[in-house]
Amino acid sequence: MPEILPGIHWIKMPISLKDSTLSHVNIYLIAGDNGWLLVDTGWNTDRSFSTLHNYLVKIGAGFGDIKQIVVTHVHPDHYGMAGRIKGLSGATIAMHHIEKGFIGPRYIDMNELLMQTDRMLIDSGVPRDIADELRDASLDVERYIVPALPDITLRDGQEIETGRFTFQVIWTPGHSSGHICLYEKEQKLLLSGDHILPRITPNISLNPQSIENPLGRYIRSLEELRRLEVRLTLPGHDRPFTRLIPRIDELIAHHAFRNTEILEAISYRARTPYEIAQKVTWGDNSDWKDLPPFHQRMAVFETLAHLEMMAAESRVDKLPRNGISYYGQK
Ligand SMILES: [Zn+2]
Ligand SMILES: [Zn+2]
Repeated sequence: MPEILPGIHWIKMPISLKDSTLSHVNIYLIAGDNGWLLVDTGWNTDRSFSTLHNYLVKIGAGFGDIKQIVVTHVHPDHYGMAGRIKGLSGATIAMHHIEKGFIGPRYIDMNELLMQTDRMLIDSGVPRDIADELRDASLDVERYIVPALPDITLRDGQEIETGRFTFQVIWTPGHSSGHICLYEKEQKLLLSGDHILPRITPNISLNPQSIENPLGRYIRSLEELRRLEVRLTLPGHDRPFTRLIPRIDELIAHHAFRNTEILEAISYRARTPYEIAQKVTWGDNSDWKDLPPFHQRMAVFETLAHLEMMAAESRVDKLPRNGISYYGQK
């Protein structure tokens, strides 16, 4: 695990969940005049804790030297260990103000979120027994989180200083409503979290915690990043990469292709998002019945994000019928 630029360390943190398609989470330890800035934290597992601990020892530092933790978004792979590291170091935790609002419903009292998720699944045409399974698919995840509220809430355009580096906060809603990227202008570095990954397409869902038209917002925030001069992108998974603009183009093309698949699925008759999701290509072309429940839920909610975007663009019609939403071509 290298220091990829002087003062910028890339640490690959383990993922131990069995149904994950990701091999690791990237966190970045960044030098400052008075201690380190840590961007994202990894899951709260013993393996990831010792990975970070060993890395700190290797560079002659300890947890007490971490002064700031910035979280790109509160998904458990990026935020899980924030509370534990803060407990050991006294570091401040900073995140976008929208993400702060998700901590309670996601990790402290989940009943309301489970009910909202259930309603969305039923409204999407998921049969009752399957909806139970999909709704509860991520319940065991809370074991891997130490929830902690931020000391600092961030807004678009704000700056984060380490003394050696200055990062500009860029609000990039879509994957999560308060997702942020960090841009270092001097170094032409972009820390992209899960907004842009080099090979995997980030999940963009319509779910109870989404802002309006999340896929439309995601694509707009991709377009905005095009204007930056970026030499190296440091993503939340996979490997750092250099060709940002071609990757942005690929992601936009991917979503356009999925729109085409969805329009094709409803070309003869209106269907529910659940029916449509089963006709779309997911990941490595897996059969729908082979997808684990958590992935099936993501697929239904991703389909919904596409449908909402196309409804906003007047390309599809939403047709409620007996408490279930059907979508048909215009
Ligand atoms: Zn994420
Ligand atoms: Zn992630």
